[in-house]
Amino acid sequence: MSKLCQNCSTKIVGRSDKRFCDDQCRNQYNNNRMRDQNNRMRNINNILRRNRRILTQFKPDSIIDTETLIALGFQFRYFTHKDLYSPTVYIYDVGYQTQGENRIKIESESKS
Ligand SMILES: [Zn+2]
Repeated sequence: MSKLCQNCSTKIVGRSDKRFCDDQCRNQYNNNRMRDQNNRMRNINNILRRNRRILTQFKPDSIIDTETLIALGFQFRYFTHKDLYSPTVYIYDVGYQTQGENRIKIESESKS
């Protein structure tokens, strides 16, 4: 049974454990994979940076409607870290806590 190259789908001749026709195909395949991975990471990093930039427009201890943040492009799904037993959500060095259903409060000082 012959296998197909994972990069170019050409029939592979030779050892049965080969996944690519040659080094060039293997390199191309790996480069494409890395590029996709980097693109996905870059997109997430951009969202995180935008979220942080939006939060830093407000003074510490500000209470802000979530709708206002969303209108500015804030995406609540994206944050960098959170402690297990603390309600504070961090985007890099800027923290916030939810206040009731529709508001958040910016942390008075960054502790991360
Ligand atoms: Zn190939």
